[in-house]
Amino acid sequence: METIYALSSAGGRAGVAVIRVSGPATAAAVEALTGAKSPRAREATLRKISDPETGAALDRGLVLWFEGPASFTGEDVAEFHIHGGRAVVAGVLGALGRLPGLRLAMAGEFTRRAFENGKLDLTEAEGLADLIDAETEAQRRQALRQMEGALGQLYESWRGRLIRILAYAEAEIDFADEELPGDLLWRLGPEIEALASEIQSHLDDGRRGERLRDGVEVAIVGPPNVGKSSLLNRLAGRDAAIVSDEAGTTRDVLEVRLDLGGVPVALADTAGLREAEGSVEKEGIRRGLAKAHSADLRLVMVAAKRGGGVEGDFELAQPGDLRIVNKTDVGGGVEGALPISALSGEGIEALLATLTERVTALFGASENPVITRARHREGLEACGRELERALAGLRDDRSGELVAEDLRLAARSLGRITGRVDVEDLLDVVFRDFCIGK
Ligand code: GDP
Repeated sequence: METIYALSSAGGRAGVAVIRVSGPATAAAVEALTGAKSPRAREATLRKISDPETGAALDRGLVLWFEGPASFTGEDVAEFHIHGGRAVVAGVLGALGRLPGLRLAMAGEFTRRAFENGKLDLTEAEGLADLIDAETEAQRRQALRQMEGALGQLYESWRGRLIRILAYAEAEIDFADEELPGDLLWRLGPEIEALASEIQSHLDDGRRGERLRDGVEVAIVGPPNVGKSSLLNRLAGRDAAIVSDEAGTTRDVLEVRLDLGGVPVALADTAGLREAEGSVEKEGIRRGLAKAHSADLRLVMVAAKRGGGVEGDFELAQPGDLRIVNKTDVGGGVEGALPISALSGEGIEALLATLTERVTALFGASENPVITRARHREGLEACGRELERALAGLRDDRSGELVAEDLRLAARSLGRITGRVDVEDLLDVVFRDFCIGK
């Protein structure tokens, strides 16, 4: 196994930079750079750091030593907390690179080794990546929970139940004198059904975890000139969209990113929905409509007209969408719609509050572990299908072996999500505290 090293903190000038080393040659690397034996494990120790070839001083910094397996990767690990100057970092990285058995780590390699050494499962590793990418409070909470194992534990508990069911089925098949599908259905059917329905309700989550991770899409829709760009600018607090009173200026979809109550929101201004004149505008409208349909939420906007009535309608509004009447500085509102004036700013705070409430209720961090990636969803859907097939097999009196095979596949589908696919090993463990037949 090669020893890897990398700058673990962000590149560029900084007060402190952290260089991490992991692998069997770590102790030797610490000794080479500090001229002394590895410090006591888990204690920050101030050391002079020098280039082992020339003996030239590179920096003074803290050295931390973690003896495997009690480390992040499960291997011997050292961290050099040095000054974050470019030349200092380059000097230490260069010195490490010249040591035998050391090479620069590839992207994600420390975490990969942690996974391979059983320090974390795949969902925890994904949670760690999401935590580093988290930009809002709710994203951070969701990622932290996943990194701490909430999602992995849920899937492992399901897999454990499934393996017990499977073990039972296999024991019956092995020990029974004749095939016993009727008996198996009676004994195992309810448990399989319960598990399948728990997985299904976990899947029916409105994709809230995935939306929180990726960002919630909100589209402002309405005919030209009702003030969509003006509202976008108001909400963004800057000039992101071009406001003009010439109809059809918003040729494409403009987006600003907002943090609403900890939920990341991409707010898009769509091209005005009206008869297009030019082909460019037509394309803009097509994209705008597509965006309006695919968005998680819409702000459907009409505008009050001088002398009464409104321009536009709420036809595109779906349940949960917000209905808005703009330009209430020139005319009246509409029952059931939020009155605003993008021009004067009136009603904007109330609109933001309502939008924040809606977005956090639908997509905010949830107390229960949630699916955060399509990968999880695919694994769970496959598991659900295989459980259904096992149930159908029991009902149709198929052979116990076929049913057991479906259960085994279902357990594998769950195992693939956490990266634990060792059904056979687990079966042995389960069988040890099992006594059926004899
Ligand atoms: P969009 O085509 O829906 O994006 O509309 P714009 O934001 O480009 O606005 C169209 C015109 O309406 C511009 O002249 C804006 O200044 C004007 N406008 C926007 N909001 C308001 C408002 O609240 N009150 C009034 N009186 N005019 C507004």
